[in-house]
Amino acid sequence: MAFKDILGQDLPKQILSQALKNQTVANSYLFYGPESVGKKLLALELAKSLNCGEPGLGGSCGACISCQKIQQGTHPDVSLLEPSKSSPTVREGAIRIDDVRGLQKKLGFLPYEGAFKVAVVNDAELMNLQAANSFLKTLEDPPGQTVIILTAANPFKLLPTIVSRCQGVKFHPLSNEAIKNILSGREDVSAEERTPRAALSQGQVNRALDPDLLEVAQCREGLLHMIETVSFKRVDVLFEWTRIWSKNASRLPTLLDQLTVLLRDLAYVKSCDDSGLIKNRDLNARLQSVAAKKKLSGILNMFENVQQTQLALSGNANVQLALENMLLNFCSTH
Ligand SMILES: [Zn+2]
Repeated sequence: MAFKDILGQDLPKQILSQALKNQTVANSYLFYGPESVGKKLLALELAKSLNCGEPGLGGSCGACISCQKIQQGTHPDVSLLEPSKSSPTVREGAIRIDDVRGLQKKLGFLPYEGAFKVAVVNDAELMNLQAANSFLKTLEDPPGQTVIILTAANPFKLLPTIVSRCQGVKFHPLSNEAIKNILSGREDVSAEERTPRAALSQGQVNRALDPDLLEVAQCREGLLHMIETVSFKRVDVLFEWTRIWSKNASRLPTLLDQLTVLLRDLAYVKSCDDSGLIKNRDLNARLQSVAAKKKLSGILNMFENVQQTQLALSGNANVQLALENMLLNFCSTH
């Protein structure tokens, strides 16, 4: 697979192929941008291009032994470090100091088969503090012939000293067209689902593939109705809503994402009346009518409340209490 075979991300591809061509590849990169838009794929493609036996102008050949080994994860000079969960009940994995030490040990040797040692640290913001401090030493004094690539959806969670050591490459959400092309290569997505899935994906492949995506999208009208009518006068409705959704914990992240996007759209409709900026274009008329009944400050307060709820739920917050708290806060906004 050459750079051109990776869909979307034209600017990052251009930056990296130019650096390869001019032999100015940096010691360390930070690929940052939304989840599931091709950061890891492009990092591994860079690793292939640096070590390919028969590289072309467009990057790696994808067929030589080196490219195949990198694809299979068996190349001795290319390491991929990803967060692991310490136990099955832990919600979010972490990168720990032992993982970083293991990587540092591998980087301590000269390249064994290839021209470069490449280390890809995926979701680098999930390094805990101890791991991050240890990793910083490697960035400060990188071993020779080594390229380190960090990927992060949330670069603000990285130590500033780590960020400042890396050349940043920004990734954007993929276009609907790119998502549709990716979906067309999947047997588990039917042809008629490609367009609605792409439209609801926010440019992220994992969202486009979410089994619950279309069903949750159908809840948009219900969510708009809730935004429109939520009130202290009908607390019974509110508690019923939270009771139902707290039982659907696996679908909750997608539902809260939809709620965030609807509130974002309402804020756009209210503040600049530019329907070109809204994401739920098929709901334009409905959004206009809900926005007309709300104040911009109220919509922004709701938006902030959803984000706080998402943050609380990414920890170990009680789902029903977090949702109730969010809706009670909605009631106090106008
Ligand atoms: Zn190759």
